[in-house]
Amino acid sequence: MISHASRRMFPSSACRMMSTSSFIASELTISPTSSPKEKLPKEELSFGDSFSDHMMEIDWTKEGGWGKPRISEYANLELSPASTGLHYGIQCFEGMKCYSTAEGGLRLFRPDRNMARLNSSMSRLAMPSFDGGELTSLLKEFCKVEESWVPQGAGYSLYLRPTAIGTHPFLGVDVSAHVKLFVIASPVGPYYPQGFKPVSLYADSVNKRAWPGGVGGFKLGGNYGPTIEPAKEAMAMGYNQVLWMWGDNDEVTECGAMNLFFVLEEDGKKILQTAPLDRGDILPGVTRQSIIDLAEGWEGVEVREEFPRMGDIKKAADEGRLLEAFGSGTAAVVSPIERIHYEGSDIDIDAGMGSDSITKRAWDDLNAIYYGEVNGPEGWGVDI
Ligand SMILES: *Cc1c(COP(=O)(O)O)cnc(C)c1O
Repeated sequence: MISHASRRMFPSSACRMMSTSSFIASELTISPTSSPKEKLPKEELSFGDSFSDHMMEIDWTKEGGWGKPRISEYANLELSPASTGLHYGIQCFEGMKCYSTAEGGLRLFRPDRNMARLNSSMSRLAMPSFDGGELTSLLKEFCKVEESWVPQGAGYSLYLRPTAIGTHPFLGVDVSAHVKLFVIASPVGPYYPQGFKPVSLYADSVNKRAWPGGVGGFKLGGNYGPTIEPAKEAMAMGYNQVLWMWGDNDEVTECGAMNLFFVLEEDGKKILQTAPLDRGDILPGVTRQSIIDLAEGWEGVEVREEFPRMGDIKKAADEGRLLEAFGSGTAAVVSPIERIHYEGSDIDIDAGMGSDSITKRAWDDLNAIYYGEVNGPEGWGVDI
């Protein structure tokens, strides 16, 4: 333990790095359900509305630290109505998938990235840290228990939702003295069962998702609830999702709950442009980073991590240099964009998924790794 005096001398992140305690995967206990649920035919799965037989839980208290991880029947939580998580948004989450590979195995994709992000979200909410390798081991055990829930075939997977909430019954705005980390799983089908369906975006000049110095770079539940009403308004106007902007120059940040990429033509090259992470208002997507990492090896493509400005995007479109636009995230992988409403008019984009399309290439290359056709760079495809 570090003393109170030294605690004050360090920025809080340094403090957190000095904490070494974590739950331990080898202490896992498994209580299998005695009443397994009926599974839906995989064609009837819709995103996030049915859940597997089990859940994993790990509790933490200020006095006792992390408890032992356990897997037991999926069930409602018992919570005090005074729980901090229900009052002050002391909640954060992750989204990742377990894939059934062509060879009949199970695979995770870059789980270390999700573990690092969950630790970073939790520490932003003054929740305890944990060892990412231990949680990855536990997720592997959980996926093995739920193996029969991992639907097979292209586009299918078991979506995993690690979540941390404050459970301390206390109405003070303070560090939550009790925390629960849990994982639930939902079998999901292809995001585009009928083939790609490009989306349209409404560039919202009024509502902001995140801002410099804010918490947009963390996966905190509190970032998402307030986006629903603006999204509803965009939908009422005939658009699928909101394009979020920031600042006087209408910098493009993200769309919906996805990172956003543009493909622009410049001097005979293709520029793949997306917002940078260093300002803290962009969610560091695993899919985003993976597309950047892959594209760095693509001939004729230059990756540019700089805020796109909507005015420049409109100008590029007018000059015929806006080739593609797409959102990226674990749920949809890539989401081609065919239209953006900006300042009173629509920018149309050819969202074709032709053979020279960057969107298609990102889709193909990522899926090949997800489903074990290739291994991809070291550490990406993690077999269970
Ligand atoms: C989760 C999320 C993403 C995508 O992250 P992935 O790790 O690629 O799934 C992008 N933007 C926001 C706002 C998100 O919440």
